[in-house]
Amino acid sequence: MALLAGALFVLISLYLPINRIGIVSAPQGISLPRVLSRIFPGVPRVGLQIGHFEVHNHPKELAALRKNTGGSVEGLHEVALNRAVARELKTILEARGIEVDLLPATIPPRYRADLVLSIHADASDDLERRGYKSAHFIPARNRAEPELKRAVDGTYLAMSGLPDDHENVTRSMFNYYAFNHRRYHHSVRRTTPGLIVELGYISNYEDRSFLEDPSRPAEALAAGIITYLEQRGRLIGN
Ligand SMILES: [Zn+2]
Repeated sequence: MALLAGALFVLISLYLPINRIGIVSAPQGISLPRVLSRIFPGVPRVGLQIGHFEVHNHPKELAALRKNTGGSVEGLHEVALNRAVARELKTILEARGIEVDLLPATIPPRYRADLVLSIHADASDDLERRGYKSAHFIPARNRAEPELKRAVDGTYLAMSGLPDDHENVTRSMFNYYAFNHRRYHHSVRRTTPGLIVELGYISNYEDRSFLEDPSRPAEALAAGIITYLEQRGRLIGN
């Protein structure tokens, strides 16, 4: 019995540190790491992609996107806002015991986590246009993606007071390159739910006054992520 307990302890202690840094890939079928990861799933991990950050570093397969530097209105650059919100969000999530990776525009090959949120903000010539929108890949890559979208949309719309701009979701959001695992090696693994969010329009006065304090959009996103992780049994509620 003691021998069995000892063997189990060694196996778990060998496995957990590997899982914590997210290197182990989920093999298909039944295997020891897969079974252990179900029993001891480890600390929840969230990837936050800073939209457009360091696009010049895109590898060859994404070379066409190297000039995709994001919107800019009256001295406010989308990428700076995306980064500020991602940093605030990381702090909030880490305080809840969640591990967070800040990711640039280029996703590490076949990146894996509990979820990936890609953070963007909009700009338009129509200064009246405003609101928040989000999209997962179409067709959804896994069953968790619609659930993640419902959770994040719910808290963001409620806490920000921004209107829902879903009618302006673009094809490039439904086909977002970072979630296009069939086409790109540098993309989020199929089994990891991914969601791209457009936090609001930096070209609209009301949206911009909400976005200028990055802690406000960060709190609204954090509430959605935490709700989702609780629903999936990956986080215990307060
Ligand atoms: Zn963007």
